[in-house]
Amino acid sequence: MIHDFTYLKPGTLQEALSMLADHKDDSKIICGGQSLLIVMRQGLLVTDYLIDIKGLKELSYLTYDEKEGFKIGAATTHRIIETSELIKQRCPVLIAVEKRLASIQVRNWGTIAGNLAHGDSSGDLAPTLIALDAKIKLASSKGSRIVPLEQFYTGLFETALEKDELVVEVQIPPLRPGTAAAYKKFNLIENDQAIVGVAAALTVDRGGACKEARVVLSNAGVTPIRAKSAETVLIGKKLADALLAKAGEAASGDADPVSDIHASEAYRRHLVKVLTKRMVRQAWEQAAHS
Ligand SMILES: Cc1cc2nc3c(=O)[nH]c(=O)nc-3n(C[C@H](O)[C@H](O)[C@H](O)COP(=O)(O)OP(=O)(O)OC[C@H]3O[C@@H](n4cnc5c(N)ncnc54)[C@H](O)[C@@H]3O)c2cc1C
Repeated sequence: MIHDFTYLKPGTLQEALSMLADHKDDSKIICGGQSLLIVMRQGLLVTDYLIDIKGLKELSYLTYDEKEGFKIGAATTHRIIETSELIKQRCPVLIAVEKRLASIQVRNWGTIAGNLAHGDSSGDLAPTLIALDAKIKLASSKGSRIVPLEQFYTGLFETALEKDELVVEVQIPPLRPGTAAAYKKFNLIENDQAIVGVAAALTVDRGGACKEARVVLSNAGVTPIRAKSAETVLIGKKLADALLAKAGEAASGDADPVSDIHASEAYRRHLVKVLTKRMVRQAWEQAAHS
């Protein structure tokens, strides 16, 4: 059962921010409601006010600039990202991620910021966007700030959002020459949440050596985890099976998974190892041919 609440429908972003400031201790933002309504129905979240930002046109856009990269408004749906020509040309990994994210019904209504702000460590977008070095723009009635997405997650379903802040934009820098990214999740039901997922973004120089690497794990800890030991293993090296095996081992050591009804801790570590090898290879080969 969902407890009673007062529904607020701001007409502008400014109005939404002042509603949030007025009710910062007893309100929640709702956008697509795909995740929020579930936790409300389960009684895990009770709030006096729901501030609905779904209809705010100011928050629904997807643009690309050669210097600054992508700017995606908070209320942009998964489906808009999945079907964007710009994303297909400049950041195809996101199309692959979106195609396997939930069902088309959820993707039609759920939004990028709702996905990120929910703070579920099994989410697919956060690890991929962290691998792409994305940033997130937060705003309150007092102003705005930009936070690297990597620093946004502070604990289990917890983020750096202050009570009077909302996410207004996701920023993805342009991919450097010789860079490619890949993401894969392991799950038992197609398009379900990840039991474990691995994103890898690699920059490869003309001689075929790895110049930069970002490897990020989903559902292998309470937040998305950067597998920094794996990244260190890769930098400066050339692609080889033994190197991938070493990177997989290192990522497995960087993971901090739990055992639950879906998988044991040991199995999750095994999946991290296997998916890291595969995603690093995939990103490396694409980067070398880009
Ligand atoms: C059946 C099902 C399957 C799913 N499978 C996957 C999957 O495979 N992979 C995956 O990654 N995700 C999955 N999801 C999660 C889904 O992607 C999210 O539910 C959706 O993107 C959330 O967006 P929303 O707009 O509906 O957010 P809401 O449900 O409206 O909000 C979610 C949370 O974010 C907050 N919020 C929303 N917008 C903002 C904002 N702009 N600023 C600050 N806080 C905000 C809300 O207060 C709430 O805490 C699944 C969900 C369902 C229901």
